[in-house]
Amino acid sequence: MITRHIVFSKNHPMKRVLSIISCLIAFFSCQDVQKSKINISDQAQLLHNGKIVNVKDGNVLENQAILVDSARIVTISTYGDLSEMVPAERQIDAKGKYIIPGLWDMHVHFEGEDLVEDNLALFPVFVAYGITTVRDMASDLGEQVLQWREEIAADKFLGPQIFTAGRKLEGIDSFWKGDLEIANEEELQQMLDKLEDYEVDMVKVTENALSGELFLQSVKQAHERGFLVSAHVPLDLSMEDLAAAGLSSIEHASYLLRLGTDEYRIAHEVANGRMSPSEANTYYAGHFDQDTAMLHYQKLADSGLAITPTLIGGKQLAYYDVDNHADDDFRKYLTDRFTSNYQWRIDRIADSSPEQWQARKERYQQIAAQLPYLQRAGMTILAGSDAAALNTFVYPALSLHQELELFQEAGLSPLQVLQTATINGAAFMGKSSTMGTVETGKQADLVLLNSNPLKDVGATQDIFAVMNDGQYFDRRALDALLEHASQRKTQLDQERLTR
Ligand SMILES: [Zn+2]
Repeated sequence: MITRHIVFSKNHPMKRVLSIISCLIAFFSCQDVQKSKINISDQAQLLHNGKIVNVKDGNVLENQAILVDSARIVTISTYGDLSEMVPAERQIDAKGKYIIPGLWDMHVHFEGEDLVEDNLALFPVFVAYGITTVRDMASDLGEQVLQWREEIAADKFLGPQIFTAGRKLEGIDSFWKGDLEIANEEELQQMLDKLEDYEVDMVKVTENALSGELFLQSVKQAHERGFLVSAHVPLDLSMEDLAAAGLSSIEHASYLLRLGTDEYRIAHEVANGRMSPSEANTYYAGHFDQDTAMLHYQKLADSGLAITPTLIGGKQLAYYDVDNHADDDFRKYLTDRFTSNYQWRIDRIADSSPEQWQARKERYQQIAAQLPYLQRAGMTILAGSDAAALNTFVYPALSLHQELELFQEAGLSPLQVLQTATINGAAFMGKSSTMGTVETGKQADLVLLNSNPLKDVGATQDIFAVMNDGQYFDRRALDALLEHASQRKTQLDQERLTR
């Protein structure tokens, strides 16, 4: 490995002034100047001429070069300072391009025991769409996803960095496949032991067959073991109860509509059997008050709770009567077996009345309208698509970008939207010091955009290049990844027809 050294050129007058000032400021540590010696390998790359978007404050840094080596941003400085360190063929001219951190999809599922190859073929598609990190929210492929997490980390194949919940906690005879089903506290402890052995990145708890005290204990015990905990909200528990038990995030904004009234009281009525779950739902639907909701959002924000709204899935179904997605271009990457899982949700809504379609759209709009309130209340919003084979028309990779557009449509500023898919994800996962921004010392996950994402977040779909864990893909290389994924879909479909 060749090692190059550089000392910032000392004869530049501005450099001199700056170094004198910095020595004066910290005159005990003039050796700081020596720290500008940088060791890099012959694989280092230099990205210059681009506009670096600071997703923390929306400032754009121009005329800077990013030195990347060993999948890290070694330093960011002027081209003049760094150009001699990297041979011309390893320099990338990003003139006019906006450089943002790699995007995070904070809610996906790699699922389906018969869809292992199908999911595997989609990993490069995430990268081609600028998504360099995903949070897998559990599935029947739990152990497989854990293995993929390690294999991607070891560069065995190309994909986004994975954080995963493995398998989720549920009650007995859960509707969902592959859950860790528990009937009592002893089984809860056994399953938490198992998740600890798996070294999952967070614990997920859902409410299909689990509720009440055991649900609450699941959150509490997982939290006490040091896990981040993400969950749905059962009708007999309030979000206040769950926040107090140590919940880290609520998945799906639909639950938040319960906060437009006295959710705490209603949840306890349900728990005591004085109200049925369906009565509670009817009550919530008829008693939503925005000011009340806002007060509750502020309370939850104070307790540090994050929210992953996952709007796109609900939107796709609510508007299925006007857009049936039969001709969606993205389906060229999805096998027939993968999309055959879409039918069940379509069947559930197919013969709705016009009133039901209307109600579905209004509900979607009401949920989306909460976004600016959540932002103002100070809740951490996480961008997550809920992309999964079982989630109809929520296409892996593309759906995150659609989710971001929905956030913008709902009233978040482009910068706020970018934050939901970058720094917020990193902060939630406790990775702010190494991920989530374009800064010295950070992991080299970058997306180069042709247009300004601070004007319109739709720019995240106008990708010039992606750097995934230090590996650079120009547009041609990204197109090659997509072409390969499309060929793989055709191949898998054909293999299965002839089998
Ligand atoms: Zn989900």
